[in-house]
Amino acid sequence: MKRKGQLFVVSAPSGAGKTTLCNMLLKEFSNLSYSISYTTRAPRSKEVHGRDYFFIDALEFESMILKGGFMEYAKVHGYLYGTSKNAVLKSLELGRDILLDIDVQGAMKIKQETSLGVYIFINPPSMEVLHRRLYDRNDTPEDNIELRLKNAEIELAQFVNYDYVVENDILEAAYKQISSIYIAETCRCALLDVKDGRLQF
Ligand code: 5GP
Repeated sequence: MKRKGQLFVVSAPSGAGKTTLCNMLLKEFSNLSYSISYTTRAPRSKEVHGRDYFFIDALEFESMILKGGFMEYAKVHGYLYGTSKNAVLKSLELGRDILLDIDVQGAMKIKQETSLGVYIFINPPSMEVLHRRLYDRNDTPEDNIELRLKNAEIELAQFVNYDYVVENDILEAAYKQISSIYIAETCRCALLDVKDGRLQF
């Protein structure tokens, strides 16, 4: 059956395990692709331009804002991050599902300004776990970790604005939940291509 793509918006405080869960989904579901964001943050050692992010400077970012290239953008933990409008809309039109791993500000902008999206919040089991995961990752400067932990308190209060909350304590259990959400949400009647009352194949 032909259908439109579904937009999935996933947010979580830094260190909640969101990237791991997103990568597991992308590996299992071939019709799901990842929206590669633009950021002014510098790449971490294992990150690749064009795969993890498009790493650009503040001037290039500003020029994309002026051209209307972002579906949303926000300042997060001291840097700018934005979602390419073209990439998302093109995917959905082609019937491909798309996954946005973005912060709570960006997620709420899309929710308020469009009728699109399934909103999933990943909750960490505790602040202690966040603290440990961020330090164990060993890829973020200490002052930025502290900022991320401070912001986590504010972000955690935002779960009420999402459609689903997945607690990431035991990874397998969290993955079962998020993959079930993906499967159910891609079966929605509203996504189907219907002409003259008939499903299109
Ligand atoms: P990180 O620097 O750890 O890769 O990401 C920091 C935060 O920025 C995460 O919460 C991540 O979800 C968010 N983020 C990544 N891309 C975007 C984006 O395009 N827009 C917004 N608003 N947030 C983003």
